[in-house]
Amino acid sequence: MTRAVIAFGANLGDREATIAAAVREIAEATGVALVAVSPVYESAAVKDSGVDDDAPRYLNGVIVVETALAPHALLELLQRIELEHGRERTEHWGDRTLDLDLIDVDGIVLDDERLVLPHPRASQRAFVLAPWLDIDPDAELAGHGPIAALRAAATDEVVRR
Ligand code: ATP
Ligand code: CA
Ligand code: CA
Repeated sequence: MTRAVIAFGANLGDREATIAAAVREIAEATGVALVAVSPVYESAAVKDSGVDDDAPRYLNGVIVVETALAPHALLELLQRIELEHGRERTEHWGDRTLDLDLIDVDGIVLDDERLVLPHPRASQRAFVLAPWLDIDPDAELAGHGPIAALRAAATDEVVRR
């Protein structure tokens, strides 16, 4: 069994309902057991050009699971759930009904065409680090150290709901 940290985000549609359904679907998936669900935060959308105050805001959070699935199988599960919730891939960092990112899997470091672990941008994102810190204060991000220090250094603004 491995322990995986998954970040969720949604800025289109009924964000709360989508997130609640997605968390339930992950928890009910074969080979996955839910360990913890973070509080939900709100954050501004970020586009290639920076913060986009005209785009709908995101709800973000993190869940921790125990899983028998290998990292790529877990990513496939997450992508299937995204699609079931109407996720469309158009512009890079575009608005979306649901985004599920694999942040960390037992500190594994890997980098191939489908999956990079730990998530390469998580170390700088308060919308990932703040909710993760709430449910796992002593967590570390492989190659980056304690997430408490990373959270303190992150500059994007998040508001706990
Ligand atoms: P960001 O990665 O900056 O959060 P994003 O979530 O908008 O951006 P997506 O369009 O959802 O990016 O994903 C693009 C691709 O990233 C996916 O097809 C997936 O194969 C790949 N990917 C690589 N590593 C990861 C990871 N750790 N978690 C989720 N997707 C990943
Ligand atoms: Ca993402
Ligand atoms: Ca993603």
